[in-house]
Amino acid sequence: MAETRHTKVLIIGSGPAGYTAAVYAARAMVQPILVQGLQPGGQLTITTEVENWPGEKHIQGPDLMVNMQAHAEAMGAEVISDYITSLDLKARPFVAKADSGTTYTADAVILATGAQAKWLGLPSEEKFKGFGVSACATCDGFFYRGKEIAVIGGGNTAVEEALFLTNFASKVTLIHRRDTLRAEKIMQERLFKHPKIEMLWNSEVIEVLGDEAPLGVTGVKTRNVETGEETIVPCQGFFVAIGHAPASELVKDQLPLHSGGYVQVEAGSTRTAIPGVFAAGDLTDHIYRQAVTSAGMGCMAALDAERWLAEQE
Ligand code: NDP
Repeated sequence: MAETRHTKVLIIGSGPAGYTAAVYAARAMVQPILVQGLQPGGQLTITTEVENWPGEKHIQGPDLMVNMQAHAEAMGAEVISDYITSLDLKARPFVAKADSGTTYTADAVILATGAQAKWLGLPSEEKFKGFGVSACATCDGFFYRGKEIAVIGGGNTAVEEALFLTNFASKVTLIHRRDTLRAEKIMQERLFKHPKIEMLWNSEVIEVLGDEAPLGVTGVKTRNVETGEETIVPCQGFFVAIGHAPASELVKDQLPLHSGGYVQVEAGSTRTAIPGVFAAGDLTDHIYRQAVTSAGMGCMAALDAERWLAEQE
């Protein structure tokens, strides 16, 4: 028979926001349950080096997340490998159904489901996903040893992925729709100095080109946004790094969202429009989107939830 479990605080999501909320809630003795979601550890598990987590000059993203999970568990949080498929925020206690069949009821909920990589939305991109098209250099870079790769995007992710892919590729072309990058200056400096990286400015990708049998990418067709000129960039791997969209599917019809789908919270807090429901991290933040700011919001959410629970008693 399917199990039903009750908790004072249910934390949904296992990035820096979720784990930090779990550490604080556990230390407040509310015995939180954290449900990890489809990608335990969140976006940092598919990044490489993290150089801006205070106290760690250099740490691998996946290692940082393993440490955070261990920390949350050591403090007494219960971390569960499962995926919440529906959440009822009208019910009291709140009701969350998980993929395993377990139902969680919770007095307070902390939403920390983060964000996911965005895609260009081209039919040819969809066709070659997993056959040369990827959004994760750490996961798939290894397959392109000695091959040519194109990356699209102009933020930190694109620059970081382009640099990482030089470990495998013979050449990396970074395609960006403008003539300046959004990435941090220190990252740009590394990028421009790299002998294997070439920039293609003011360009968008209009089609992914490839073979049918076996299915595989052979290049991307780009268009110069100023002149309209079309070019083919030969490559066997095409990495999309154009930002992220918040994972607000669970609550999109229940809570007010900002444009872009980010959950709205009261200024200076993690309180959403529903008392007892708190949101933290990339799910609510379209400005900073850093591991450390997410962790900070996770802390705030646990403190907000704890105070709210105390007020109810
Ligand atoms: P960003 O939103 O910062 O950048 C997205 C990039 O993709 C922009 O350059 C944007 O162009 C471009 N873009 C968006 N849509 C399209 C499109 N449809 N076609 C072509 N190009 C497009 O996202 P990131 O994922 O790079 O970074 C997210 C956050 O995570 C940032 O705050 C970043 O600093 C942080 N981060 C930090 C890292 C670190 O510190 N180690 C590593 C990775 C990310 P335009 O510039 O023209 O808008």
